[in-house]
Amino acid sequence: MILFSTKERHQDKKESRYRDTRRTAEKMRLAYIGLGSNLGARMQYLDRAVQSLQKLRGIENLRCSSVYETEPVGHTRQPEFLNAVVEVRTQFEPMQLLQALQTIESSLGRERAEHWGPRTIDLDILAVQGVVRHDGKGLQLPHPQIANRRFVLVPWAELEPDFIVPGLDQKVGQLLEKCRDPSDVRRYMTAQAWGEQMQKEIM
Ligand code: ADP
Ligand code: MG
Repeated sequence: MILFSTKERHQDKKESRYRDTRRTAEKMRLAYIGLGSNLGARMQYLDRAVQSLQKLRGIENLRCSSVYETEPVGHTRQPEFLNAVVEVRTQFEPMQLLQALQTIESSLGRERAEHWGPRTIDLDILAVQGVVRHDGKGLQLPHPQIANRRFVLVPWAELEPDFIVPGLDQKVGQLLEKCRDPSDVRRYMTAQAWGEQMQKEIM
């Protein structure tokens, strides 16, 4: 048995506290979330989704891209989308993050009717730092469609062009340069104006 003097014990406690904070910091991973809305008050759905994300305990340092108005891809006979990308640092495991996003989707009236159809809010995990998982069904990371979607890559590259997407091992900016998706993606509201708008709403 090792006996510590009071001073040593105090020192030891301090160190273990320091180790704990370091461990938490190491567990915080960068994650990118794609937001989309093409039903009803689209801008309000984006605002409320970001505000809900910001309130989650396992999420910090949230940063938003500008908002873009985009042509629908897939089922093209539906209203135009507003899309944006959000960067967070999170200690959630990827499945926990997905569940948190799905809870926010339901709270904002998302009904899972038609795949790729109109929706009040869609929250997809685009990528999580250091994570690649493509095990059949369920959560796929990075999101399998990102390289083909300008409505994802344009806002993402605005936010962080140098992020290297795990599994694809390319930077977001490189993926955008190579992307063949011809659909229209126009800036709708700058990141700054959006941030100010959300700030006003919570005051
Ligand atoms: P989509 O986003 O493709 O239009 P949905 O939002 O309805 O369609 O998602 C369908 C399913 O995709 C969800 O039940 C979810 O489990 C799964 N999924 C797989 N990978 C991801 C991911 N990276 N982000 C979000 N959902 C994902
Ligand atoms: Mg989705």
